[in-house]
Amino acid sequence: MFYKGATLEKIGKEQQITRERVRQILNQLLFNETYQKQLLYNRRNRPHKTRAYKRICPVCGKEYSGREYINKPMLLCKKCRWEKRRLARTKTYICQNCGVEKTYLDYKRKPVFCSRKCHGQWLYKMKINKSIE
Ligand SMILES: [Zn+2]
Ligand SMILES: [Zn+2]
Repeated sequence: MFYKGATLEKIGKEQQITRERVRQILNQLLFNETYQKQLLYNRRNRPHKTRAYKRICPVCGKEYSGREYINKPMLLCKKCRWEKRRLARTKTYICQNCGVEKTYLDYKRKPVFCSRKCHGQWLYKMKINKSIE
């Protein structure tokens, strides 16, 4: 479909279509070609990602490797990042029975007792107190 040095009218007469239609088809072909090239370039170079790296984690001191996004650099290794996230999620509560400080995950319901045993003990104490009164 590509003729070198041929005018749009000449191609149109040969293919029995209008000059505008020929222009449209050629534009579409060119667009597809450039689009494919762009896709291939993107796939090979990954403009949103940096190249593979090797780095030493400042927290655990282990060497780790991978690819990272340009707008959010990975400064810690995968394990330490998860640990950091987990720590950010954990909050502390104090057991009503034994008074010991414990941790719980933020998205869960805040617990009142550290264990079932503590809950039972607390209920027992309450019973005794009530019976005394
Ligand atoms: Zn680490
Ligand atoms: Zn307790």
